Amino acid sequence: MTTLKGLVLRERSFGDNDKFLDILTDEAGLIEVTAKGVKKQNAKNAAVAQTFCYANYCLSDSGKRYILNSAEPIRTFFSVSTDIEKFALASYFSEMTLYVATQERTNQEVLRLILNSLHFLAAGNRENLLLKAIFEMRLLSEIGMVPNLLGCCECLKYSDTQMLFDLRGGRLYCENCFGNRDLHGVEMLTERLLHYIRFIALTDMQKLFNLSVSKEYLPHLSRITESYAEIQLGRHFQTLDFYKTVRNG
Ligand SMILES: [Zn+2]
Repeated sequence: MTTLKGLVLRERSFGDNDKFLDILTDEAGLIEVTAKGVKKQNAKNAAVAQTFCYANYCLSDSGKRYILNSAEPIRTFFSVSTDIEKFALASYFSEMTLYVATQERTNQEVLRLILNSLHFLAAGNRENLLLKAIFEMRLLSEIGMVPNLLGCCECLKYSDTQMLFDLRGGRLYCENCFGNRDLHGVEMLTERLLHYIRFIALTDMQKLFNLSVSKEYLPHLSRITESYAEIQLGRHFQTLDFYKTVRNG
């Protein structure tokens, strides 16, 4: 018997009463769990066998897959499902996390990031678009795909009225050093935008969600973090399209 703290990122039904769960755990990374009988009426494990449940899972190890015995919920984020935009964003966070967690050995900071993001999403006291930008940029940073944000990659200039962010190369150029290079896959950053991106990528997790971004910067910031994530991961997420179709404004 093993006990692991984890967040359900995805549930898939099989048979009449059972589910497979993909759970991101604190100590064993991403695991697949068979949850038997959880779709039966009044099943004792029904609530803990749902996406967005964070719990202490008591599991038996059957070789290839874990089997769910029981669980103590720690925190559930089911309330995001009552708001279509939040639900779409939470699903996007799950899909991205699932993708990076299957690609490489994940770490506890990724779990912390998604738990915090879901917490603020459920609480509703941060702009959805800000949470999206924070999640995208920070996730890449946590899995070792942090861009070089120290300064211009050629002359090391720390800031300028405009800096150019090469999304593919993950590096900055000042206008001077950028010269006549191709602008494809390059974003112009004002000092303010660069500050936001540095903060998200590099600050302590504890302070991460204290970031306050003026509303007029949010769409641009979110576009940059989204493109950076998509280019670096080489993957387009369906849940992101879903989010865009249901987003208000
Ligand atoms: Zn330069």
